Amino acid sequence: MAVTALQRGAMRTVRVWLKRDSGQYWPSIYQVMPAPCSCMSFNPETRRLSIGLDNGTIAEFILSEDYNKMTPVKNYQAHQSRVTMILFVLELEWVLSTGQDKQFAWHCSESGQRLGGYRTSAVASGLQFDVETRHVFIGDQSGQVTILKLEQDSCTLVTTFRGHTGGVTALCWDPVQRVLFSGSSDHSVIMWDIGGRKGTAIELQGHNDKVQALSYAQHTRQLISCGGDGGIVVWNMDVERQETPEWLDSDSCQKCDQPFFWNFKQMWDSKKIGLRQHHCRKCGKAVCGKCSSKRSSIPLMGFEFEVRVCDSCHEAITDEERAPTATFHDSKHNIVHVHFDATRGWLLTSGTDKVIKLWDMTPVVS
Ligand SMILES: [Zn+2]
Ligand SMILES: [Zn+2]
Repeated sequence: MAVTALQRGAMRTVRVWLKRDSGQYWPSIYQVMPAPCSCMSFNPETRRLSIGLDNGTIAEFILSEDYNKMTPVKNYQAHQSRVTMILFVLELEWVLSTGQDKQFAWHCSESGQRLGGYRTSAVASGLQFDVETRHVFIGDQSGQVTILKLEQDSCTLVTTFRGHTGGVTALCWDPVQRVLFSGSSDHSVIMWDIGGRKGTAIELQGHNDKVQALSYAQHTRQLISCGGDGGIVVWNMDVERQETPEWLDSDSCQKCDQPFFWNFKQMWDSKKIGLRQHHCRKCGKAVCGKCSSKRSSIPLMGFEFEVRVCDSCHEAITDEERAPTATFHDSKHNIVHVHFDATRGWLLTSGTDKVIKLWDMTPVVS
């Protein structure tokens, strides 16, 4: 028997699901909490389970070796209101958390003491930590990612990233390549190349709805992103992608020279009707609709779906360049949480339908 699923919900209960000899999963524990559960973090090595509650408390338990018992260890009065994210860092004995009170806090899991805090600009919805350099990444609902350097009892603001037009919904850190992925309600994932030190940010467009959860398969360098539409996209991060170009500004089409509608002077001089401005996603040029009538996917720029391109770029893109760099799967539920088990290649998704699904990802993540 093996523990495979820990369920949380709008309910006050925490359940540990064990695979029985029949092959079916049944809860071994049914723990009732004093307030609704909002997030959790489980460390398999120590079997430590940290549960964030709606009342701002983090409740810590140790699971017994056979996963049939949950022993309360301590409570942290971490936040003024709902705990939104928890991360337990075994190496430092730290519990990192964010709350609806716009606070990031970290506590010592040995003493239970609060070590420090930082006020974020909005409610945090993504939290990742680099153990080696002690940098914490906090994504929030304003779309910003804040990077802090943590000391034992203080922190300093390193920088902030802003690239999304919607709130950040999930963060995922790859400590080997030193790359941060951020998912957003604007449907996109951005890959921030921190290790490359060139400020490269690559956009990945493969969802038709909010990106809700991210997971990374380090051994195969594949990113798994899950959306509100139930889509699971497995991205090959071994390919070299290019940044999308800045959109150029022009008063007339940069292909046929026809004036755009605000360019009254040229419209008058040449007796032409002003056109609407569009942008080619490949070269960034400002073009009219007629000069950008075709669509193409540009997977090497992160566009797995067809986007507007100018006629000359459409001609220049080869079939090879159009080959998808991601695979698409339908989970058939609105995913709110994922967990990827790299050793087995299993993906757990839980949805707003209160269903937990286990996926064998070995055919695509290998
Ligand atoms: Zn034109
Ligand atoms: Zn173009």
